[in-house]
Amino acid sequence: MATTIMDSVLGSMGEKRSQPSEAQGYVMALDAGTTSVRAILFDEFGSKVAQAQRSISISYPNPGWVEQDPVEILSRQIACMVEVQFKSGIHSDQICAVGITNQRETVVVWDRRTGQPIYNAIVWQCRRTAPMVEEVVAAGHGDLIRERTGLVPDAYFSATKIRWILDNVDGAREMADADALMCGTIDTWLVYNLTHGQVHATDYTNASRTMLFDIHTLDWDDELCEIFGVPRSMLPEPRPSSGSFGRVSSDVMTNHPPISGVAGDQQASMFGHCCFEPGDVKNTYGTGCFMLMNVGEEPVASKNGLVTTIGIAEGGRVEYALEGSVFQAGSTMQWLRDELQLVEDVADTADIALSVEDTNGCYLVPAFTGMGAPWWKSDARGTICGITRGTNRAHIIRAGCESMAYQTYDILKAMEADSGNKLSELSVDGGAANNEFIMQFQADLLGIDVERTELDETTARGAAYLAGLAVEFWDDRDELVTMRSSSAVYHPQMDDAVREKYLAGWHAAVERTIA
Ligand code: ADP
Repeated sequence: MATTIMDSVLGSMGEKRSQPSEAQGYVMALDAGTTSVRAILFDEFGSKVAQAQRSISISYPNPGWVEQDPVEILSRQIACMVEVQFKSGIHSDQICAVGITNQRETVVVWDRRTGQPIYNAIVWQCRRTAPMVEEVVAAGHGDLIRERTGLVPDAYFSATKIRWILDNVDGAREMADADALMCGTIDTWLVYNLTHGQVHATDYTNASRTMLFDIHTLDWDDELCEIFGVPRSMLPEPRPSSGSFGRVSSDVMTNHPPISGVAGDQQASMFGHCCFEPGDVKNTYGTGCFMLMNVGEEPVASKNGLVTTIGIAEGGRVEYALEGSVFQAGSTMQWLRDELQLVEDVADTADIALSVEDTNGCYLVPAFTGMGAPWWKSDARGTICGITRGTNRAHIIRAGCESMAYQTYDILKAMEADSGNKLSELSVDGGAANNEFIMQFQADLLGIDVERTELDETTARGAAYLAGLAVEFWDDRDELVTMRSSSAVYHPQMDDAVREKYLAGWHAAVERTIA
């Protein structure tokens, strides 16, 4: 089993052990992201009391290829679990449950007998299997994939990454056929190793990002497994996001607490934002923007190129979500800073934007890598239009800030149209959500309140909530809602006529960008 890896991990940490104490009162969330892994302790009031973090390396062995070392991910995650206990003085007998959230779609394939990976983890960003996806679509399987999985066929999702490993690693296909391999996303890899090989499982949210999972029947789909050449026997058992995933083995946490919550990062974030009602939406303004709308207990197919995904499976029900992303959000600010050198610090962009009344008719459409939802034009490239002799630096910076709000607006309108839900409020977080100007402009464009959550770490928090609910550390979702508080609420103030004028200008700029 995975003993070899676990032993080497613990060996390198000097066998430190925690001392048991009386109280029982924390949940540990593991947040296995793309650039770092963390372990965070939350108390019963939902407050973060301690955290440990390690960065993880990433390699680019060929153009477009992105890989990580699964053993490094595991060992650094375990190091964080141990460190956070020592740092806080809160030891494993006080930790009632462990929840996991993770970078989605990234896959690991390992030897069932030794527990050793047979290849690096292929990371979600990796484009090496784009031709494979084209072949599958050309063979006429696109509609089937969309119907069963809710996804738009893409190399981003896990299926072709697993297939690539089976097709390209010496002996892998034979091993897979002989049932000698296992695979999973990062949650599965962590659960498998933390339980010493006792549990090979994933949760529905992670499964729904693989392109092999039927989101209606909540099970792997034999036809899709066949199409993608992935034997079903390699796949983990899909389970609800809140429930049993075994126990952390006692050599990592002496009192071996249950792992009782697992969800992909965006879904965990949606849960951490308490988006519990149909129509509730969260938007994370980071390098890109990630939006998820809870659409309730029936999946909604998108007519606008959004993906349908499992939102969360907790408390005996499954809620679906529509997901959309803005490719260039905070990255536009970095571009203004690094390439145009219009600003020294992105934190200054709000004040600069507010130093002018408007953009003077100027629009910046940051289609650096094409236009995503709802336009889907991959060969489009960015534009700045409406420039006059009077256009200055502040106008361009303001146009850059506004572009985040306009792109978010377009996706949210597509979500409303697809789902029939009317947005009543937008819950936000992420680095660029600290920009007061953008948040006010967002509220103005949408005509609804934008609420920035005070609680940081909404992703880890979501994983903690899922784990805590499963073991009755928290009673129910109502209790989670009482712990929620916002740091700022932005109320819409713009006149309808002004809003219409701005939006018309933006959409004219988008038309030109697409053309
Ligand atoms: P990620 O998790 O994607 O790395 P973060 O949530 O840490 O992103 O946010 C970082 C991004 O937000 C960067 O792209 C940065 O340019 C942008 N950003 C941070 N602060 C501001 C701000 N005050 N105004 C506008 N953009 C900002």
